[in-house]
Amino acid sequence: MTVAEFGLGERLGELRRTFQSGTTRSLAWRKAQLQALLNLVRDNEEQIFQVVHEDLGKHPVEAFRDEVGVILKSLTLNLNCLEKWASPKKSPLPLAFFPATAELLPEPLGVVLIFSCWNFPISLALEPLIGAISAGNAALIKPSEMAPACSSFLARVIPRYLDNKAIKVIEGGPETGAKLLEEKWDKIFFTGSPRVGRIIMSAAAKHLTPVTLELGGKCPVILDTRLSSSELEVAIKRIAWGKWGLCNGQSCVGVDYILVEEKFAPTLIDLLKKSIDQFYGRKAKDFKDLTRIVNRHHFERLHNLIKDPAVSDSIVHGGQVDKERMFIEPTILLDPPLEAEIMTEEIFGPFLPIITLKNIEESIEFVSSRPKPLVLYAFTKDETLKRLVLSRTSSGSVTFNDIAVQFMSDDLPFGGIGQSGLGKYHGKFSFEAFTHEKAVLRRNFIFDLESRYPPWSDFKLNF
Ligand code: NAD
Repeated sequence: MTVAEFGLGERLGELRRTFQSGTTRSLAWRKAQLQALLNLVRDNEEQIFQVVHEDLGKHPVEAFRDEVGVILKSLTLNLNCLEKWASPKKSPLPLAFFPATAELLPEPLGVVLIFSCWNFPISLALEPLIGAISAGNAALIKPSEMAPACSSFLARVIPRYLDNKAIKVIEGGPETGAKLLEEKWDKIFFTGSPRVGRIIMSAAAKHLTPVTLELGGKCPVILDTRLSSSELEVAIKRIAWGKWGLCNGQSCVGVDYILVEEKFAPTLIDLLKKSIDQFYGRKAKDFKDLTRIVNRHHFERLHNLIKDPAVSDSIVHGGQVDKERMFIEPTILLDPPLEAEIMTEEIFGPFLPIITLKNIEESIEFVSSRPKPLVLYAFTKDETLKRLVLSRTSSGSVTFNDIAVQFMSDDLPFGGIGQSGLGKYHGKFSFEAFTHEKAVLRRNFIFDLESRYPPWSDFKLNF
C-alpha cells in the first residue's frame, strides 16, 4: 500500500485529534489497550509462530522466546505497574522555597512513530508500542518490509484488537519510511541500522523531534582462558548459542566476533564445532531449525563478505553456501584481515571470526579503539580484567559470562551508545522513553519577600 492509498494526512489527523481529545491519557484507556494487546498475542500465538516461520524459518521454540514470551512478560509488567509509573512523584525543594511543594508529573509526548526491524519482527514492533500505550500516546507503527508475513499480520490484527483511532499500522519500505519522516511527530522510535538511524535523526532535527535509536554494531566477546575446563566448555557453548541460536547471527545482541589468546584458538575451534554438531547435527545444511537468512539482499551481502580470498582463506570450519536456498553454513574464521569488511562492518549473519591476541588484556585496547558496541561480552572470573572492561571500554551494556540475558531483564535498560544507538527502553524504561516528566512547583501567597523586587540596593545584594 502506498502512503497515498493509506491516506497518511487523514490518518495522522485522526491520531492527532484522538490524542488532543485526551482519550489516550486516561489510565482506563491505557489498561484496556494493554489488555487487548495481551489478548491479541494470546489468541494469535499459533499465527505468530506461522508468520515468523514464513519470514525467517524460526522454530516455534525460538519464536516463543523472541516474539511471544517477551511480549507477554512485558504486558504483564506494564499492567501491574502502570498506575505507579503514571502517578506524580514528589520532589524535594530547597528550604528557601518554603512554603511550596514540587512534583514530577509524567505526561505523554503525543503522536509517536515506531519503525521496527525484521529480525524479531513482532516483538520489535510491539515492545515499543507497549511503552507508547503505557505512557498515554497515540502511535503509528511501520513494521519492516523485510518480514512481509509479519508486517501484514500486524496490519491485519492490530485494528481488530486495539483502538484504531489511536493506534495504526502502515506497511511499506524505505519510500514509505521517507514519506513518514516528512511529517511532524512528537517522538520517533527507530530500530534498525546505523545508516538509516542517521537519516532518521536528520529528519527529526527539522522539527526538533526527540528520537530513540536502537541500532547495531559489532558485539565482541572477550574470552579469558583462565577459566576451568568445564567453565570454558559452558562459556563456548553459550557463545555458539549467542551466534547461531539467536536468529542465526541476525541479532543485534548476538556475538559478532571473539577475542582470545592465540594458544587457545585450536581448542576454541574444536569446542565451537562440537556445539554446532550438538545443536544442529553433523549436516548443518539439512538442519531445518537453523533460522534462515532473511532475504536475497542480505544473503548476497553476507556471501560477498567471504568472497575476498584473504577472508575465505581464514575459514577453518563451514563456509558452504547454497545460493538457491539462500543457505550459509555456520562458519568459523581464524584471524581474517582486520581491514576486511567482515571485521569493519556488523556481520549480522552466521560467520564467527576469532581474533587472536598475545595476551587477553590487549582486548581492552582492541575494543576501545573501535566504535562503541551495543553489548560487550566477557567470559572471565578475573576481577582485574572485569574492572578493565568496565572502566576502559564503553558500550550500551556489559554482560559477564553469558550472552543476551541482559536483553531479557525488564529491570535493565536496553540501548546503545555512540554508533550503537541513542536512548533506552524495556520495562519501566520503555514508559520513560515515551514520557515527558513535567516539573510542577506549587507555591501560595504567604511570605512575599520584598528583597526579590527592584529597586536594587547594596543591602539587597548582600541579603
Ligand atoms: P534498516 O535500517 O535497513 O531498516 C529498518 C527500518 O527502516 C525498516 O522499517 C525500513 O523500512 C526503514 N527504512 C529503511 N530505509 C529507510 C529510509 N531511507 N528512510 C526511512 N526509513 C527507512 O534495517 P536492516 O539494516 O535490515 O536491519 C539490521 C540492523 O538493525 C542491524 O544493524 C541491527 O543491529 C539493527 N538492529 C538493532 C536492534 C536493537 O534493538 N538495537 C534490533 C534489531 C536490529
